[in-house]
Amino acid sequence: MADPKLTEQIEAFVGREYGRVYAWDRVNAPMIRQWCEIMGVDNPLYTDPAFARQEGYEDVVAPPAMLQVWCMAGLDNENYPPGSTTENSFEVLKLIEGYGYPAVVAVNTELNFERYVNLGEKLYYTSRVDSISDEKTTGLGTGFFVTLAMPFFSERDGGEDEKVGELLFRVFKFKPAQAQKPDTKAEKTKADKPAAKRPLPGISDDTRFFWEGCEQNKLMVQRCTDCQTLRHPPAPVCIKCHSFEWDAIEASGKGELYSFVVMHYPEVPPFDYPNPIGLIELEEGVRMIAGLVGVNRDELEIGQELQVEFHRFDDRLTLPQFRPVTR
Ligand code: ZN
Repeated sequence: MADPKLTEQIEAFVGREYGRVYAWDRVNAPMIRQWCEIMGVDNPLYTDPAFARQEGYEDVVAPPAMLQVWCMAGLDNENYPPGSTTENSFEVLKLIEGYGYPAVVAVNTELNFERYVNLGEKLYYTSRVDSISDEKTTGLGTGFFVTLAMPFFSERDGGEDEKVGELLFRVFKFKPAQAQKPDTKAEKTKADKPAAKRPLPGISDDTRFFWEGCEQNKLMVQRCTDCQTLRHPPAPVCIKCHSFEWDAIEASGKGELYSFVVMHYPEVPPFDYPNPIGLIELEEGVRMIAGLVGVNRDELEIGQELQVEFHRFDDRLTLPQFRPVTR
């Protein structure tokens, strides 16, 4: 059961409102076109002014699903336009965390639209803590679902701003299942305490060959038997020729570091932190995500040579990991 003090404080958060976050740019055609290209949206209402006029609009309109894009920070986190609030609308997560719920995962979002957004409109959103659930237990662990509502408005120069849509964003703030209690560090070493195990992969008919390969210390890559194109992660269809026919080849296990992240937080058992994770481009050309071992995180370098090795975890799961090649 949740600490009643926490429950009381959480309740006080519901309905709390936070200030405006502005869009850097007015709604504009280049951003719409690029978004459509990236998302593979080919509706001419968004890109062809003549077609849009024929449909009764003044010009192209923005795809509704793009609403959240306009007010995003950009590449630098928290880099919002002048006049935007500096409040943290997720501050309730810190409160919950203080009571021993360290992990967070985004659960789902819902977008609602009032109307199309037009070129030239200046948008902003505000935030409100819409709801916080009672303490719930899921497969991930025990915690609280926190839902933030973000209504989007079009700013009007002399007149009331008009609501154009709303985003609901829900996260789960939780104690991971099997996690050690934070105040029992001393007990961590006791043998009678069951250690957290790595999550097992979801194995399907399309991916089984890969995991079976790992058990035999072989790094397998799927190959289309019609056009010979390699693909990873495994999928039922060839992205190049759409054939369903495939087999798999054993990769050399050599590759280079294409990109990487070093996970620091939140710390979720049983992983060690900092936890370096690489996107490895294999010699055969496909890319694969895997843990990096034997690395000093300050010395990680894009393009460095890596070699696969297989590690067995919890006596039930063999995973490929990559280690820098030393000369
Ligand atoms: Zn093919």
